[in-house]
Amino acid sequence: MTSWPPIRAELAGIEPYGAPQLDVPVQLNVNENPYQPSAETVADIAASVGEAARTLNRYPDREFVALREGLAAYLSSDVEAQIAPEQVWAANGSNEVMLQLLQAFGGPGRTAISFAPTYSMYPEYARDTNTEWVVGHRESDFAIDLEKARALVEETRPHVVLLPSPNNPTGTALPPEAVTVLCEAVGDGGIVVVDEAYGEFRRTGVPSALELLSEHRNLVVTRTMSKAFAGAGLRLGYLAADPAICDAIRVVRLPYHLSAVTQAAASAALRHAPELLGYVANLREERDTLVEWLREQGLEVADSDANFVLFGRYADRHAVWQGLLDRGVLIRETGPDGWLRVSVGTPDEMDAFRQALTDVNGARA
Ligand code: PMP
Repeated sequence: MTSWPPIRAELAGIEPYGAPQLDVPVQLNVNENPYQPSAETVADIAASVGEAARTLNRYPDREFVALREGLAAYLSSDVEAQIAPEQVWAANGSNEVMLQLLQAFGGPGRTAISFAPTYSMYPEYARDTNTEWVVGHRESDFAIDLEKARALVEETRPHVVLLPSPNNPTGTALPPEAVTVLCEAVGDGGIVVVDEAYGEFRRTGVPSALELLSEHRNLVVTRTMSKAFAGAGLRLGYLAADPAICDAIRVVRLPYHLSAVTQAAASAALRHAPELLGYVANLREERDTLVEWLREQGLEVADSDANFVLFGRYADRHAVWQGLLDRGVLIRETGPDGWLRVSVGTPDEMDAFRQALTDVNGARA
């Protein structure tokens, strides 16, 4: 008997990825930036989109030149390294950038690896591109043991290594020597993708992998406007790498994948980078205060370089998640058993979270 619809067998019955989108007062479940753009920025984005609308009868700039220039200028301002526009590629969210990387560098007969616990979309990119997926493991403090990682690379000879820094859901940043060791171990047979979706939230003294681009031609660093830039609704992710890697992605990208509206809105948002990124310092401070408070409650808390914190451990984490939701606070039930993840919001939202967690404390094992 054949089932309906005639989907690929390995996709049959699989639930689509996604956190619940619930309308609750305090939303701390998908690592969004809680701060909305100012009226001035909204007006500039609207005017730019209005201008783009005048020529919507035409396809957009397939090479999104102006946007790449804006992204390269921004990256060069965030780190010591100089990033040129031809080193930059962008797509609809860093999720799409990563899928394009797997389409170009993974595929049948090829292997991608990462180290768990890690971002749960990675195995999905591998599945959707028919790439073999191999997962190593992090240590109990969620760091990557470099000797074990090197051994896994030597054993599997991966074509793609996915390394989030900071890692989701643990918040763990990678030391620069980890990037160097893995780039050298992988060599010209593959690429090492350092996913810096949360890179701007790194603590002082933690360098970005962007600084290492000139040393390793197989290194790719991805970023997004969804988090630090407060632009999750924009759907704009990007990467910096050797221009030859950008050229390889061009082969698999759909023509005109970045709409004129997206390009106009993202370029306008970049013009307001100082304002949009202006809350990063507050969020880092709020995060550090939260880590301290959770530890004072006797909880285990992973060190975080991101805009979220993983804490636990609970014998019944679902009961704690539900107790918080009952009090109007939505967090994420994700990560290893017993742990929960909370995004860093405004001071008022964090007060609400602390109050609600204190109330449900009785549910703790
Ligand atoms: N990488 C990591 C580690 C993430 O946590 C996320 C979003 N949750 C993404 C990539 C994708 O973000 P976006 O598609 O919004 O750029």
